[in-house]
Amino acid sequence: LIGADGSPAPTIFAEMSALATATGALNLGQGFPDEDGPAEVLDAARAAIAGGRNQYPPGRGVPELLEAIAEHQRRFYGLELDPAREVLVTAGATEALAATLLALVDGPDDEVVVFEPHYDSYAACVALSGARLRTVPLRWPDFQPDLDELEAAVTDRTRIILVNDPHNPTGAVFSREALGRIVALADRHDAVIVTDEVYEHLVHRGPHVPIATLPGAAARTLTISSAGKTFRTTGWKIGWVSGPAELVDAVLAVKQFLTYVNGSPFQPAIAVGLRLPDAFFRGVSADMRRKSEILGEGLRAAGFDVSTPAGSYFTVADAAALGVSDAAEFCRALPERAGVVAIPLTAFATRERRDEYRTLVRFAACKRDEVLQDAATRLSALRS
Ligand code: PMP
Ligand code: GLN
Repeated sequence: LIGADGSPAPTIFAEMSALATATGALNLGQGFPDEDGPAEVLDAARAAIAGGRNQYPPGRGVPELLEAIAEHQRRFYGLELDPAREVLVTAGATEALAATLLALVDGPDDEVVVFEPHYDSYAACVALSGARLRTVPLRWPDFQPDLDELEAAVTDRTRIILVNDPHNPTGAVFSREALGRIVALADRHDAVIVTDEVYEHLVHRGPHVPIATLPGAAARTLTISSAGKTFRTTGWKIGWVSGPAELVDAVLAVKQFLTYVNGSPFQPAIAVGLRLPDAFFRGVSADMRRKSEILGEGLRAAGFDVSTPAGSYFTVADAAALGVSDAAEFCRALPERAGVVAIPLTAFATRERRDEYRTLVRFAACKRDEVLQDAATRLSALRS
């Protein structure tokens, strides 16, 4: 986690966003929207600040947000949660992941099974927890888990199976069959399932099945989500974790010493967001589908092979057809060559498996339509 000069090595997102700022390139690297979220949510945050909700909130989160999260899980997935005991608000999904791993890992004999490529904090937090990382590869172009490889990775040493569905960086939405196998393996080896569903509403080719809804899963599953993606408020850092009370209590025991509490005026605002009518959530998914189609067409026209994402902010493209053999080098040169920033998939892979993703590039589609069209025009210059 510490770079060669002794200071923290910047994450790939910080590095690529700095490159976008320095070169003036379009930032299809870091996954954040370039438009504000719904007015109702922004107004509610202003009202909470004006109304004096600026001191420490309760440790588990403000009651109206805890209730809104429980309502949301019932409304969309039929899951029943006790808001006072089975829900915890965190500083984004990032803190939920960190606190969960730190809480549940006992020591160096524990293993955490993670799909690869994976969001960068997964391997870092597994390392901080002291557990051993076991990875299961997802492969181009559909990025569904190979169930035999999954089965081989899960053993009695497995403490946690860490799932991310819809998946960053690949855009995959896991099949019901794969999710069912994860539940069966967790049951057989008495592992906890931790599922990161921050892109739960950004599904454009569904269905997305929350793993906690599968038979036998809820009692051993912690579900993590976040307001950042759904409500285009990534800077507010309001996330949450829900599941069995004793597991949530263990996460709270760690969270209280990481941030104690967070985001006092933003919490009631996100409660307003979670209670928006169905039309809002349908709009979020339809917008994402349109954006991913604009991006996919642009990438195809520019000569990339493009996977078809089913969800998330992201599209993966293979640059091999453009004569690229090293996507990391290609992405470092791309801002100067084409005025676009993107992220090589190797940034999401462990050293042992980087080779499998050598020519693949992740593009973020969560930008305004005209930005995506501009990016497509710029990328088409790569062919000439
Ligand atoms: N998990 C995944 C898969 C993500 O893509 C992200 C955000 N980019 C996070 C977690 C972190 O979410 P938050 O900003 O709510 O901490
Ligand atoms: N989740 C975002 C992405 O994958 C970025 C989050 C971050 O910068 N840590 O691009």
